[in-house]
Amino acid sequence: MRKPRIVILGAGYGGLMTTTRLQKLVGANEADIILVNKNDYHYETTWLHEASAGTLHHDRVRYDIKDVIDRNKVDFIKGTAVEIKTAENKVLLEDRELDYDYLVVAVGGESETFGIKGMKEYAFAISNVNAARRIREHIEYQFATYNTEAEKKDERLTIVVGGAGFTGIEFLGELVNRVPELCREYDVDINKVKIICVEAAPSALPGFDPELVKYAMSRLESKGVEFRIGTPIKECTPEGILVAKGEDELEEIKAGTVVWAAGVRGNAIIEKSGFEAMRARVKVQPDLRAPGHDNVFIIGDCSLIINEEINRPYPPTAQIAMQQGEVCARNLVSLIRNKELEAFKPDIKGTVCSLGDDDATGIVFGKKMVGTRASFMKKMVDNRALYKIGGASLVLKKGKFKVF
Ligand code: FAD
Ligand code: NAD
Repeated sequence: MRKPRIVILGAGYGGLMTTTRLQKLVGANEADIILVNKNDYHYETTWLHEASAGTLHHDRVRYDIKDVIDRNKVDFIKGTAVEIKTAENKVLLEDRELDYDYLVVAVGGESETFGIKGMKEYAFAISNVNAARRIREHIEYQFATYNTEAEKKDERLTIVVGGAGFTGIEFLGELVNRVPELCREYDVDINKVKIICVEAAPSALPGFDPELVKYAMSRLESKGVEFRIGTPIKECTPEGILVAKGEDELEEIKAGTVVWAAGVRGNAIIEKSGFEAMRARVKVQPDLRAPGHDNVFIIGDCSLIINEEINRPYPPTAQIAMQQGEVCARNLVSLIRNKELEAFKPDIKGTVCSLGDDDATGIVFGKKMVGTRASFMKKMVDNRALYKIGGASLVLKKGKFKVF
């Protein structure tokens, strides 16, 4: 009898967690497992702000997928999925087609521009390794060019970060540590550098504990960040951004670099493939399958699950994507073995927001913490993710061990 074929799209937190768990649970003759990913490496999306600011080399945030999969049980295909034909149980890759019996969609999120004019064209988004490398190099280029021009353009040294959510704040934390290094390297007066964070909501880190938000803002302000809170960005141009000022006025902020960190949506393949979705995120059933598609699981940033306590969606995080991966693997095995599927319930252990590699603010197991203690905890969280996917050897290879 033909073995069922399981295809997993995406080797991020959700996809790799599903694959590494599945390869342990499934017998060699029970199923064919195929993992498809754009690159032959996995990157830690949660570390991309560091690679973008240049505080961590991009090779430190990625590792070879082949190092963590059991090649006797999993076939890896380097490829980009462009559409899922659910009626035909088929995935179209750029250069071939793949049939499946069971499918896991774990292709992550994309930057949400909310249709703001010029954002796609002129702003950078911290979305993958290629994007992170470009941001780092663009900022370096601005510093390197500053002193070479007869008429110095100070706005070259202005960096605008759009959005003071977790991504924006974590990127700022790295940036304030990187800028003094850049100033030394390129003989630039640090007083000429401006780092401006523009946030539409009435507070940074909306919804987070106010005491911890205050800590984050004051630490960043003390290192030179100027916050423009309650100020929606309305447009991005080659010269900078336009923000709302009063009822119907706009103000221009000139900047050599604009980094847009104002939210995420699911992967475009979700909408292209005809799944019913909100901002390309599918409200999945409790067992993580897409409604109406009994052989398709959707996990990670492409999925939407509701926090019943507040009747609002959980924010998409690596923490949830990894937990979904574990349940998804078990549910795939149950489907193959004709057993009952289990319901997914997130177990939120906490949230820590880094402020550079030596500082952080967060809540872990209900306890608030800031400073080096929180920063240590953040590194433990990062190392734990490596451990869960690649075991102790991956932690030794890629882990964060800075001691204060
Ligand atoms: P990802 O981990 O992003 O992986 C998606 C994978 O799919 C990638 O390997 C990609 O190359 C691949 N892919 C994409 N499209 C295709 C395609 N068409 N075909 C084939 N392959 C494809 N969350 C936390 O819990 N804690 C944090 O501290 C944290 N920090 C963050 C910091 C930053 C800077 C950012 C941007 C996000 C952070 N998040 C954090 C959120 C977290 O990173 C995401 O929620 C998580 O990565 C989602 O996991 P995923 O498996 O859905 O997608
Ligand atoms: P987000 O949606 O959490 O924050 C985006 C911010 O941009 C919000 O504060 C929003 O008010 C603001 N914004 C939206 N439109 C704007 C506009 N026009 N002008 C100015 N500001 C605007 O998005 P994110 O920070 O990219 O995070 C994405 C996901 O990743 C979230 O679920 C987050 O929890 C998760 N994440 C977690 C961590 C962590 O746990 N340490 C770190 C990074 C990201």
